[in-house]
Amino acid sequence: MSVGTVLIVGAGITGVCTAEWLRRDGWDVTLIDPVEPGSEDQTSYGNAGLLSRTSVMPVATESMVRKAPSMVLDPDSPLFLRWSYLPRLLPWLIPFVRNAKPERVRDISIGIATMTSDTNEQHLALVRGTDAQNFICSGEFVSLFPQRENYESDVFGAEIRGKYGLYPEKIDRAELLERDPNIGPHYNFATVFKDICWLSSPGGYVRAIFSHFKSNGGGYRQSRAMSITPGAAPSVVLEGGETLSADKVVLSAGAWSGKIARAFGVGMNIEAERGYHIAIRDPHFTAPQPYLVSDAKIIMTPMDGFLRAAGVAEFGGLDAPPSSRPIEVIKKGVRKVYPDLKFDVTENWMGRRPTTPDSLPVIGEDPSAPNILHAYGGQHIGLTIGPKVGRIIADLAGRRRPNIDLSIYRPNRF
Ligand SMILES: Cc1cc2nc3c(=O)[nH]c(=O)nc-3n(C[C@H](O)[C@H](O)[C@H](O)COP(=O)(O)OP(=O)(O)OC[C@H]3O[C@@H](n4cnc5c(N)ncnc54)[C@H](O)[C@@H]3O)c2cc1C
Repeated sequence: MSVGTVLIVGAGITGVCTAEWLRRDGWDVTLIDPVEPGSEDQTSYGNAGLLSRTSVMPVATESMVRKAPSMVLDPDSPLFLRWSYLPRLLPWLIPFVRNAKPERVRDISIGIATMTSDTNEQHLALVRGTDAQNFICSGEFVSLFPQRENYESDVFGAEIRGKYGLYPEKIDRAELLERDPNIGPHYNFATVFKDICWLSSPGGYVRAIFSHFKSNGGGYRQSRAMSITPGAAPSVVLEGGETLSADKVVLSAGAWSGKIARAFGVGMNIEAERGYHIAIRDPHFTAPQPYLVSDAKIIMTPMDGFLRAAGVAEFGGLDAPPSSRPIEVIKKGVRKVYPDLKFDVTENWMGRRPTTPDSLPVIGEDPSAPNILHAYGGQHIGLTIGPKVGRIIADLAGRRRPNIDLSIYRPNRF
């Protein structure tokens, strides 16, 4: 017997994980999304596929903020700004810069580590025994640096990672070449973390969780939610005018969530931090495991039948069309790592990371409408934390107290 009804607005990784946890708890769940889960219109389709248990640093740090002005002026750097968008970015940018202070970074890292540290276990808890499990690969995660000094100079980053026991193995170029003889001469130092998982197809993974959910009785409406109305039985108006209501509504519409939340009254501050990828089909050689290319700010991940290079950050709003320069910068990054890789068959893609000014997700009951639950803001780690966010939301809906302090993620903190 159903314990109640839930509508979920947005069916990317966050929405499908939340839907599946709620379904297992006995809720009658309907996902609402104009695009099929797993399709390329979702940010969850085109990410680097890393389940990043080692992510603890926020996007904003003092060194990043210091470098940003020169980076946006350099067309070869991985940071892009559409200048006409700058006035609209300021309400997000000002608190973002404030959050770069070391004491804020230390606090924020606690909120990030809480969400990322058990990602391998959280994903397996959700997908073990389903087709989605077949997409999980495991091995090492290697970060490439031009020189050892580039790594050693980040004393603050090492301090924060050390706080969480994240001490990578350090290897020089000779060892790097033993592992991967194709690495170009630009990279002379690397760090290695073991016991890391990644996905052979992030879109396929979302699709598989969604199929499992549907084949076990979960519902799906392929439509856009036009508005959410709070209340004892909150409702969602669909494109076309139909109104659905339920005991609970979960908002998990990624970078689009801010617009929807603001319309029913929460002062949300979230930006579309646009990122890009290229996919190189059937490369004549590929990466043995995911690489973080530290200077190019891309991750290169071996996936099913292709090598994907994903990353960069562009600020230009939700709706602007994709730019061409970020794709060129990513290609350049790949050529530096693999000068001998011949590629011309590529897929170019752009997606929108849902990024808050404090790099923390938004998770929790709406302060003035507790039957509405917020679940978004995964920024660079939205894939990593999807199952855990879903589990927390299912706990909150079922009136179970999650065993973590959620105040740092509260929706009314902006
Ligand atoms: C280049 C790049 C690389 C990345 N690499 C990684 C990585 O390696 N590891 C990692 O953990 N994270 C990574 N990320 C981040 C991660 O992909 C995102 O944080 C995550 O996909 C966000 O998931 P989501 O479900 O919140 O949003 P989305 O996947 O964007 O889904 C939101 C859904 O909401 C729907 N929606 C919007 N408006 C409405 C509406 N009005 N009604 C109904 N539905 C609506 C949309 O159609 C969409 O399907 C990367 C991101 C990028 C761009």
